Amino acid sequence: MNNTLQLKKVCRHYLQGGQKLEVLKGVDLTISPHEVVALIGPSGSGKTTLLQIAGLLDQPNSGEVILDGQKCQKADDDSRTALRRNYLGFVYQYHNLLPDFDALENVVLPQLIANVSEKVAREKAGWLLERLGLSQRMYHRPAELSGGEQQRVAIARALANTPKLLLADEPTGNLDPHTADNVFISLMEIVKETGLSALIATHNLELAGKMDRQVQLKDGILLDLRPSKRIEDNRNFY
Ligand code: ADP
Ligand code: MG
Repeated sequence: MNNTLQLKKVCRHYLQGGQKLEVLKGVDLTISPHEVVALIGPSGSGKTTLLQIAGLLDQPNSGEVILDGQKCQKADDDSRTALRRNYLGFVYQYHNLLPDFDALENVVLPQLIANVSEKVAREKAGWLLERLGLSQRMYHRPAELSGGEQQRVAIARALANTPKLLLADEPTGNLDPHTADNVFISLMEIVKETGLSALIATHNLELAGKMDRQVQLKDGILLDLRPSKRIEDNRNFY
């Protein structure tokens, strides 16, 4: 079976006021099927940059992004769009739900865009929302939902097209600690139940410790943290 995601020597720099800022300086990462990986690192270390490159929303300056054995650099726009739509799911720190649609519709719409029939899309959306504890909230619009509920809808939306890889950028970073824990537990349960792989950026080392593996961005390089080497000192992360 192909690796779900492979990054090879990925480099990305930005130009800021005429200065070259090297954010990723040769990042290597392999995620296997069913593997859930925590991406940690202080603010500004390049977590979002890395997730956007892995999610084909941004291009590296050099290096390779390989999804399901397919080299994405050479893929044309249509294939990249198809991979984003069918192979990848995204959850952001802020939910980005469509304000004029209810929770169910927010999870149905991406499926309709992927040519799923409305009947099947509604069934799938209902199942996902129920699994995420929102059976009583299906017909609420985002403004009528709490922050934790909105984020659960965003998770359901990300999983609507049965992706193989979920990319989440501090998905609980905007929630109070108690709500964050609950949403995170639901996220992990549904990820494990559906058997997909995930790369989840988080500041929260306790949550990171609950994933299969932890990788840390440090000075533009990705370090693989084996459980025995888990960092004891949290101070750098806040
Ligand atoms: P993190 O998600 O870990 O906080 P980011 O990937 O957002 O880190 O940012 C890494 C660094 O790259 C930061 O110093 C940020 O200012 C810079 N950066 C991110 N995006 C851009 C951009 N579009 N243009 C210029 N600099 C950027
Ligand atoms: Mg970020």
